[in-house]
Amino acid sequence: MGEPIVQYKDIHKSFGEVEVLKGIHLDIMKGEKVALIGPSGSGKTTIIRLLMTLEQPTSGIIEVGGRNLWQMKKNDRYVEADEKHLREIRGDIGMVFQHFNLFPHMTILENCMLAPTIVKKRNKKEVREMATEMLEKVGLGDKIDLYPSQLSGGQKQRVAMARALMMKPKVMLFDEVTSALDPELVGEVLEVIRDLAKSGEMAMVLVTHEMDFALDIADRVLFLNEGIIEEEGHPTDILVNPQSDRLQDFLSRFT
Ligand code: ADP
Repeated sequence: MGEPIVQYKDIHKSFGEVEVLKGIHLDIMKGEKVALIGPSGSGKTTIIRLLMTLEQPTSGIIEVGGRNLWQMKKNDRYVEADEKHLREIRGDIGMVFQHFNLFPHMTILENCMLAPTIVKKRNKKEVREMATEMLEKVGLGDKIDLYPSQLSGGQKQRVAMARALMMKPKVMLFDEVTSALDPELVGEVLEVIRDLAKSGEMAMVLVTHEMDFALDIADRVLFLNEGIIEEEGHPTDILVNPQSDRLQDFLSRFT
């Protein structure tokens, strides 16, 4: 696969005295699907939140499309990124959380239209057409005028995905998107992600405990343990023939 869309270069992150990420080196290629697995507390969510600029690294550099996330060039010198710089880079990144964070007083169509209309100041009619198309893509074309409270958890999560897709991200981040769902609703959400993965040129990073799913859609699986990437490789090598004792031990909990 061609060139990286995201690069983590020796990323360290501490919260107070505790170092949660201890030197992450990671290139995510354009269109690549990366699954991030590992025990609870190993730093998976932090890796994703750093890319969303919800957290700032303690040291190290993150680049998106070759642009330094937290620094920008001004008069030939590097200075701390301003809000405009961050906003531009964030435009390339979409995120779906464990909880859907939909606005309850808006229909699902309006939820999807909100950010592009306000942030990108795009034409409302075009945005409406695109939102309808995205909701159809996630299988909710017949529900566009309903409110979030009228939907199941799985449907809400699919709205959250349509909403993220509205911004045409180059990278989509999925943070345990099925873990808050009732088991019978997990399948429909994974199905939508699978379709996106198969059809899209979008890179994806998925934090997941669904190992069969990771095996099916990921190009590469990373095993994070205590803040470092301990093993990485082709899904079959990592999930079917794990090498380290710790990875074998971790995977044995899912069988
Ligand atoms: P994972 O997603 O693998 O479960 P996280 O990235 O959520 O791990 O968390 C890694 C560690 O960092 C945990 O010990 C967690 O308590 C800690 N942590 C995460 N965010 C914060 C925060 N904002 N303040 C303090 N500690 C945090």
